Amino acid sequence: MRQQIAAANWKMNLTYQQGEQLLDAILKENIALADHQAAVFAVPFPYLMMASQKLSGRTNYYVSAQNCSDVKAGAYTGEVSAEMLKSINIGYCVLGHSERREYFSERNQSLAQKVQLCLDNGITPIFCCGESLSIREVGAQEGFVETQLMESLFHFSEADIRKIVIAYEPIWAIGTGKTATAAQAQEMHAHIRHLFAKKYNKATADHIPILYGGSVKAANAMELFHSPDVDGGLVGGASLVATEFISIIRALK
Ligand code: PEP
Repeated sequence: MRQQIAAANWKMNLTYQQGEQLLDAILKENIALADHQAAVFAVPFPYLMMASQKLSGRTNYYVSAQNCSDVKAGAYTGEVSAEMLKSINIGYCVLGHSERREYFSERNQSLAQKVQLCLDNGITPIFCCGESLSIREVGAQEGFVETQLMESLFHFSEADIRKIVIAYEPIWAIGTGKTATAAQAQEMHAHIRHLFAKKYNKATADHIPILYGGSVKAANAMELFHSPDVDGGLVGGASLVATEFISIIRALK
């Protein structure tokens, strides 16, 4: 079975102490994950080591960064490189979140660089894509997402593309309480999988986890995750509430 992932995106929320308490409350549940399941915590940079220490010894629990630099190293004050993340054993990195695209002007070409640097350092990119409301309203979402994938990912080899996780996050559903229906999510996920099959092959397309993101919560996770092409979720708001995220992990296929 394809890997199924519940990924928490804390964004710029919680103090260090609140982060510790949240992780403690979730880990206290001792949720056993099957071989094909993973729980990933994308925490702010200053909390990466703390989260790693708390998760150490747990099977299929991972820490993720929320971003990394698009350059390798050097005089780039304030940036954090993929190599730095590797040096503290961080396994995942969220890339191209719509908030970074919107507020920090991240573009498809620079994201291609970030993906390359993560792969060079053995870090799994969680590559975000997804359309705005205005694009969906004119029915152009499939072409928009195709361009995002084409410009950032489709030059990678088959071996490399198999190491990537996709998160489809329609911008109109992020932090708005407005969730895509399971049918809307499934439709786009099937389209994304079809694009990978067309560019690479069916076996590769079937191997790549495609997470859904956009107001996932305990109440809708089960329905969303049970769509055949939805392989878990990237979760913002609800990942900050222990009981919510516990239920979301439990909703994985
Ligand atoms: C996200 O941060 O990627 C996200 C989907 O946020 P929310 O779950 O709050 O919509």
